Amino acid sequence: MSKVPIAVAYGDGIGPEIMSACLHILNEAGAQIEPRVIEIGEKVYLQGYTAGITPEALQVIRETKVFYKAPITTPQGGGFKSLNVTTRKLFNLFANVRPCVSYHPFVETKYPNLDVVIVRENEEDLYAGIEHRQTTEVYQVLKLITRPGTERIIRYAFEYARAYGRKKVTCMTKDNIMKLTDGLFHKIFDEIGAEYPEIQKEHWIIDIGTAKLADTPEQFDVVVTLNLYGDILSDMVAQIAGSVGLAGSANIGPSVAMFEAIHGSAPRRAGQNLANPSGLLHAGIMMLVHIGQPEVAERIHNAWLRTIEEGYHTYDIFREGISREKVGTKEFAQAVVRYLGQEPQQLRPVRYTQEGGPAKVLTIPPYQRNAPPKKELIGVDIFVHWVPGRPEELAQKIQSAIPSQLKLTMISNRGTVVWPQTLEETFLVDHWRTRLLSATGQPISHDLVIEALRAYQRVGLDFVKTEHLYVFDGVEGFSRGQGE
Ligand code: NAD
Repeated sequence: MSKVPIAVAYGDGIGPEIMSACLHILNEAGAQIEPRVIEIGEKVYLQGYTAGITPEALQVIRETKVFYKAPITTPQGGGFKSLNVTTRKLFNLFANVRPCVSYHPFVETKYPNLDVVIVRENEEDLYAGIEHRQTTEVYQVLKLITRPGTERIIRYAFEYARAYGRKKVTCMTKDNIMKLTDGLFHKIFDEIGAEYPEIQKEHWIIDIGTAKLADTPEQFDVVVTLNLYGDILSDMVAQIAGSVGLAGSANIGPSVAMFEAIHGSAPRRAGQNLANPSGLLHAGIMMLVHIGQPEVAERIHNAWLRTIEEGYHTYDIFREGISREKVGTKEFAQAVVRYLGQEPQQLRPVRYTQEGGPAKVLTIPPYQRNAPPKKELIGVDIFVHWVPGRPEELAQKIQSAIPSQLKLTMISNRGTVVWPQTLEETFLVDHWRTRLLSATGQPISHDLVIEALRAYQRVGLDFVKTEHLYVFDGVEGFSRGQGE
């Protein structure tokens, strides 16, 4: 088998030690890889590259399409961009896959039967980072959820479940509140889930779902969710499984994939041969499956399980009475190498080879763009910066000025309707949404929207943003105000 080139970054802090340990294990196990070392992280940031990576290093990742990455240290202070967010976006790494497992009774945990894979959407949601300050009092971030992005992550979760023999996929959203965005995610989960009849499906609202996951993780299998919820859930589950030092993660895109530990560079532990290389090793195991070397992945994973069973533990998981010996990073790697070819005796051995054949490589079909729906403009929400007065004053100003083809139907403040009905108790800030709808019910033109903005300008209203109100194939593409 010819060797597969992979981009390798040793990173900062404990990074170089744990990467050396992992590459040693991978080589001894017979991985057919050819590392191409690239420089990332603190030094590169301080040379003036704001994302912590040089164009040359990015080019190596483009060529190898596989990136094995040790943790880095992000320098303190402003102006530095997250390397992870940059690589995710540049290479379209849409899926973040994080398997979390407890290793009872060998690693202390409150949850002996935890075995959950979090599949997190990795590019969209609030992480688009589109933020604006609009008034003295109000700041805004845009939450973007797309159909192509959602279809892809949900299909990935089901394909993962199928390939790895998982029984259930749980979707978590907050669609009782965010009916359009989270609602789309839930709807697509139902649509795509129907194509996987052998897999159980369930949906939880994220708040109670998180509580259930923290309380009875053994009832969950694969969890698919949006970016922010997944960010929080995946750290929580990794932590309750035993140690942040144990879990690895895969960031998967259509052509490039990046594999890393979930923890950071732990600078205080650096250079002391103390750190646990297991998280990065698990990432390496996922990488081997990804590049079509599942036999090697299986050998390493089973030897690792045996090492844990035999009680060779780094300081973070060492427990008097459970562990046999407290070992350093290098000695831990040597123990894994010693057990290559052996299987765990109490923990369940892993199988990446199915009936002797290679594990399925997950491929997601490209997005199929259907004929667009009929889209009609029926109104506009104009947001204004207005120092709190009474909503009826604002309504009068607007009604006196707008063209007759439009009618003011609602004013809301922080989403709560304050006109035509209002409660004295509702708290008001300086940011108002004023909703103008077509007076006739017929579609309106963009010209009319511009005329409305001119009218606001004439009566001295500082409009800070507009949102057009569309109907798609007869279905409203906007939410109603609370209480509307
Ligand atoms: P951290 O994950 O580095 O450390 C948190 C705690 O876990 C520390 O007590 C540490 O000693 C322990 N720990 C972490 N990994 C361990 C391991 N392999 N073995 C044993 N113990 C381990 O988080 P932090 O201290 O918040 O961050 C340190 C630096 O890492 C920061 O500069 C941060 O920006 C960076 N960071 C990088 C990544 C990444 O590159 N993917 C992720 C998170 C944090």
